[in-house]
Amino acid sequence: MTTAAHAILFAGGDAEPHIAPIQVRDPRAGEVLVRMTAAGVCHSDLHVLNGDWPFDHRIALGHEGAGIVAAVGENVDLAVGDQVVLSWYAPCGRCEACVDGKSWLCAESGAIGNGLPDGTTPLTADDGEEVRPYLGVGTFSEYALVPRAAVVKVPSEVPAPVAALIGCSIATGIGAVLNTADVRAGQTAVVVGAGGVGQAIILGLKLAGASKIIAVDLSEDRLEIARQLGATDTVLGSDPDAVDRVRGIAGGSGVDFAFDAIGVPQVTEGIVAYVKSGGAVVLVGMPSRDAEVSIKPWRLIVSGQRILGCNYGSSRPQVDFAKIARLYLAGQLPLDLMVGERIPQARAVEAVHALTQPVGKRKIVDFTIN
Ligand SMILES: [Zn+2]
Ligand SMILES: [Zn+2]
Repeated sequence: MTTAAHAILFAGGDAEPHIAPIQVRDPRAGEVLVRMTAAGVCHSDLHVLNGDWPFDHRIALGHEGAGIVAAVGENVDLAVGDQVVLSWYAPCGRCEACVDGKSWLCAESGAIGNGLPDGTTPLTADDGEEVRPYLGVGTFSEYALVPRAAVVKVPSEVPAPVAALIGCSIATGIGAVLNTADVRAGQTAVVVGAGGVGQAIILGLKLAGASKIIAVDLSEDRLEIARQLGATDTVLGSDPDAVDRVRGIAGGSGVDFAFDAIGVPQVTEGIVAYVKSGGAVVLVGMPSRDAEVSIKPWRLIVSGQRILGCNYGSSRPQVDFAKIARLYLAGQLPLDLMVGERIPQARAVEAVHALTQPVGKRKIVDFTIN
C-alpha cells in the first residue's frame, strides 16, 4: 500500500521546482510515516536550487519540519498521533561517531544521499519514476516516510511551526552556542548574519547568559528582529568600521565567540578579526561545497584562536530536540519570536526563492491552510 501526497519536486539544473503528486510507501520495521503539519523554509533548500549542492536525481525538497505520526512499522516506540520533529541527519546508531555520542558526525547516515539508511527511497512520482527525499526527509511533502532515528517525539503543546523550526535552524543555532562553542555566562559574542540560524544563535546566547550579544547584518530589518530576540547591540555589516565597533562594544579586545551564520567566503575570512586572543570562530552557515577561504595561521597560533566547524549544532537530535522543547515550554526560549509568515504548500517554491531577500522571519509551510 501507499499514501498519496503532494510534494515539491526538483529535477536539478535549470528545472523549476513544482508541486506534484507522489506516492509514499507504507512503513516497514523501524520506520515511521509522518503526516506533516509544518515545514520551515531554510537556506539549505536554496543551496539546492542554486546548484551549490548538485544532485544527480530528482528530489522532494524541504528538510526542516514537524508532523504527526500517521503509521508505524514493527519495533517502533511511537504511537499514531504523537507529535514529532524530523531530523535531517538520521544517524545509524552503530558507527564509531554514533557510539561516541557524536551522531552529527555519523559516517553511515543515508541522509546525505537523500534516502533511507539502506540507500533506497520510499517515494515514487506519479510517472512511476523514483523521487528521493531531500536529506532523507523531504519536509515540503504532505507525508514523509523516515527511519525511527529521524524523528524525535515532542509534547503536543509545542506549536507545529515551532516544532518544525527545532528540526534545523533552532537546533543548529542553539546547538552552536551550547554544544559547539559551549558559551559560558558573561562571555561575549558577535553573530554575523541574523537570518533563521543567526536568530536562533541569538536566542541561545541569551539562554547561556552572554553579556554582549552583538548582531551584524546588512539588513536593518534583520537587525530589528535581532534586537527583539535579545541582541544587546547591532551593527550594520556595511559599516566600514564594523570590526572596530564590535570589538569596542565587547570591551576593546574583541569577542569570545564570533558566529558565522552566513557561510560566504568573504564573511568567513573577515570574521577572525572580531575575536579576541583565546577566542573562537564558529562556522555555522553553510557555504557551497567548493568554497575556499584563506586565513593567516600565524595569527591563530600566536593569539590562541580557534576555528570550530558546527554541523547541525553538534546536536544529538533525540537529546537536544527534546531539551529545546522543554526549554520552550518552560518559557526560557521564546522560539515563537522566530516564526514568520505561514504559507500554504503551493507557495513553498516562491518562499525558497525569496530567501535571496534578507528580510523578515522564517516562513512556515503550514499544511493546514490552502
Ligand atoms: Zn536548514
Ligand atoms: Zn553512525
